[in-house]
Order: sequence, then structure tokens, then C-alpha cells
Amino acid sequence: MTYEIDPNPTYTCIGSVRGRCGHRHESLGEALDCLEADQHDCRQLGGGAYSDRHIVHSDGSLLSDDEHRLLDDLRDPWEVIR
Ligand SMILES: [Zn+2]
Repeated sequence: MTYEIDPNPTYTCIGSVRGRCGHRHESLGEALDCLEADQHDCRQLGGGAYSDRHIVHSDGSLLSDDEHRLLDDLRDPWEVIR
């Protein structure tokens, strides 16, 4: 089985509770903004609600190690998540 790497990957946010965001984000930065907006919305609900979404490729495949590193770099260091 060959695994082809999409030269222009798109990303979506998905969680078993929160479901898919329904977007095709063209960059990890956009996907992260979407994810953080959802986390913010969940916090507004109170009661310890949180977003269980995470970022995957639009085809549902998981991010590569490089993409995870990039994501860590993109996260706002001043905002404590979780
Ligand atoms: Zn989204």
C-alpha cells in the first residue's frame, strides 16, 4: 500500500463529543484558531465543559510528527490550554 502525501493538505477539527467543525482549513494556523474558538465556547458553558476536538487532515488521517511540532510552535504560549 502506498501512502501519498497530499502536497496541499487541508485540516479539520474533530471530536467524538463536539463532532466535526465542518471546515477545510488551508493551514494549521487556521485550524488552530478554529479549535481554540471551540475550546473558548466550551469554557463559556461552564461546569468543566471542554472541547474534545483535535486537528486532523480533512481525509481523517492523523497529523505527522512534523505537523505536531508546527502546531506546538503556533500555539499562543500565553494561553494555557486544558
Ligand atoms: Zn474549523
